[in-house]
Amino acid sequence: MIRPGQYVRDLLQGSPGTSVTAHGWVRTRRDSKGVHFVQLSDGSSFQDLQVVIAEGAIEPELLRRVTTGACVRVEGELVDSPARGQKVELKARAVHVFGAADPASYPLQKKGHSFEYLREIAHLRPRSTTFGAVFRVRHALSFAIHRFFEERGFMYVHTPIITASDCEGAGALFGVTTLDLANLPRTPEGAVDYGEDFFGKRAYLTVSGQLEGEIFASAFTNVYTFGPTFRAENSNTPRHLAEFWMVEPEMSFCDLEGDMDLAEEFLKYILQYVLDHCRADLEFFDKRIDPGVLGTLELVADSSFERITYTEAVRLLERANRSWEFPVRWGADLQSEHERYLTEETFGKPVIVTDYPKEIKAFYMRANDDGRTVRAMDVLAPRIGEIIGGSQREERHDVLTARIQEQGLPLDAYWWYLELRKFGSAPHAGFGLGLERMLMYVTGMKNIRDVIPFARTPGHAEF
Ligand code: ATP
Ligand code: MN
Repeated sequence: MIRPGQYVRDLLQGSPGTSVTAHGWVRTRRDSKGVHFVQLSDGSSFQDLQVVIAEGAIEPELLRRVTTGACVRVEGELVDSPARGQKVELKARAVHVFGAADPASYPLQKKGHSFEYLREIAHLRPRSTTFGAVFRVRHALSFAIHRFFEERGFMYVHTPIITASDCEGAGALFGVTTLDLANLPRTPEGAVDYGEDFFGKRAYLTVSGQLEGEIFASAFTNVYTFGPTFRAENSNTPRHLAEFWMVEPEMSFCDLEGDMDLAEEFLKYILQYVLDHCRADLEFFDKRIDPGVLGTLELVADSSFERITYTEAVRLLERANRSWEFPVRWGADLQSEHERYLTEETFGKPVIVTDYPKEIKAFYMRANDDGRTVRAMDVLAPRIGEIIGGSQREERHDVLTARIQEQGLPLDAYWWYLELRKFGSAPHAGFGLGLERMLMYVTGMKNIRDVIPFARTPGHAEF
């Protein structure tokens, strides 16, 4: 087993004169007279380890198998590297090839692959430069999320993936069933009889862990869920996946102001973490994927977010004197073009928009006294628009009951959610962050399929 101290990341920091063993996959090999240069990667860092094999140091037959894609072990000595950008290189004494890779048919050639092509070889793309960087940043971001909440005393709760409640009545659910689709049990009325199904009723993959998060916030005060969520949206956009990861904190004794404060602190914290821990990867994105992205992240990590109400936002957009593709009108949801205008042109930094019309927001958001708006907040970021959506939750039993009915949702399905308001109800609030949207933001990658290891979208579930 490889142990800390033996990763390429660590070897690159090693001292000349040390005997070491390196493991990894050959990225490239270059032959010059009397010497062969092999770039070795084990995924632990953006930078590869340069292995130098002197002519005659190993058997020619063995050397022939050290080609791009091959998996090898190299024993040797770290020596000062004359090459730029690296302190040391590995002078090989012995090489072992675990698995060769035929150079003629290895699908990941040195350069020039489109992201579309790489999606088709998702079993190999993690070894590419770009995807190595993407997934290291994804890992760092995930760790930063857990650390942020741990430092603030939040409990991590695992909310269910299979659920019988459609969180927001939002539709776009995947059904979960063990019924024989070719031979469905029927009720006397001819409907499918889900009473016969595995759970004795209709079940789905969850679209959000929020409602169950609220249960735990009613016992453990501050909690968060961080797990996969599912939406059967047939929209095929570069921003939507059928399976994606969501972070959802839920806080008791918290109002919308507290919610906004936490969301802002959270975003800055996780950004600062990747800025501090993934420098080389981010510099790569800045150079090769999205020039300027690094500067934007640094700016956001240290700006204070603008806060405006939905009503103010609509006023600003009306005054903008633009021909919008989607007309601006109080009561309509903000579209991407509006969100980008506010963040990029009006304020030049993230903007939190609050107090949306109740008609365009979920039933559980706390009603304002004006009778028209709810205590919702969306955090909008330059270049991508909505990145976080949250709200103060309706904690008043009577108001919540009325809101559920108003939206035409079945009261009985929410019996336990309503009971939380009957027994020791607390003011509380929370928000949701889509991890992949955040990653798109951080890396500058333009397609959400390229920031998740194995993308699930309409028509695609390979790997
Ligand atoms: P959008 O308008 O972009 O479809 P939404 O309003 O449906 O988003 P919410 O229901 O508020 O989004 O979900 C919370 C967060 O989850 C969003 O802010 C976004 O970051 C993320 N998200 C929503 N749908 C998807 C999806 N299909 N794929 C990836 N991330 C998503
Ligand atoms: Mn949506």
